[in-house]
Amino acid sequence: MKKSAGVLLSGLALLALTQAQAQPGRFETMSMEQKVAAGESYHGRQAVPVEPFRVVGNIYFVGTTNIGIYLIATPEGHILVDSGVNEMSSTIRDSVEKLGFRMSDIKIMLSSHAHFDHVQAHAVLQRMTGAQVMALEADADALETGRDLSPLGFEGWEPVQVDRRLQDGESINLGGTSMTPTLVPGHTPGCTTWSTDTEDSGETMNVVIFGCNGPNDGVQIVNNPRFPTLPEDSLFGFDNLAKLNPDIYLTGHPEAPFEGIMEQLRVQVRPHPLLQQQPWHELVAERRASIEARIAAERAQ
Ligand SMILES: [Zn+2]
Repeated sequence: MKKSAGVLLSGLALLALTQAQAQPGRFETMSMEQKVAAGESYHGRQAVPVEPFRVVGNIYFVGTTNIGIYLIATPEGHILVDSGVNEMSSTIRDSVEKLGFRMSDIKIMLSSHAHFDHVQAHAVLQRMTGAQVMALEADADALETGRDLSPLGFEGWEPVQVDRRLQDGESINLGGTSMTPTLVPGHTPGCTTWSTDTEDSGETMNVVIFGCNGPNDGVQIVNNPRFPTLPEDSLFGFDNLAKLNPDIYLTGHPEAPFEGIMEQLRVQVRPHPLLQQQPWHELVAERRASIEARIAAERAQ
């Protein structure tokens, strides 16, 4: 990254902090240094372009080193899940075009959750594509106000109109592909796990795109003045996730899950390399247990 860009990004991170400090209680317990470091990392190292590739079936990776952006291609137009930080919009456009698709064929934009590292470029990409923005009702206000309304309360984004507000389990359909949102509140009020069936090497695979691990580290879960029902909501989210039964799951931060298998993914080794992931129900149980432990520890104080 060029030096000038680094200075600009620090400035943006500081601007976000200044805005947040005007809203007492928004930033919970992260230190100033942690917030600056997290913001810079998402705008910098984690947002470095990578070559796009087909992940499985009609699902393509058009994101960066550690921000997962997924294109689901159909004969009647495409669906984009997440948009990343602002600086990524041209990367996403280049990746979509390198794969042989057209931005103007993206008809629907979805999101995994209303945090800046996943939806900040929504407004820019909406203008580039003319797509309809759809989101679970519980995250739609955040998208439309441009403010992080989650327990974390981090950087914001340019407001984007939500054309269709969805309810938990209300599928959307395009060109023979159906995508179903599962509501997983906690990380954000409307954190969404998307699931879809896709045909891959003659098999039907159920794939989920998953980015909801409960409230961020440092967030007060019990008696959070802004989110009084955060403990129950978070546990409900994990129970909702446990109802899913994917063959493969993809995440919003793919660096760790793709580590060591990137080449296999690119050359499309089968059986699919992601079938070796930690089993879904074990993962969900483990993450639920970690949030339960945080709740218990807070209650014991
Ligand atoms: Zn997040």
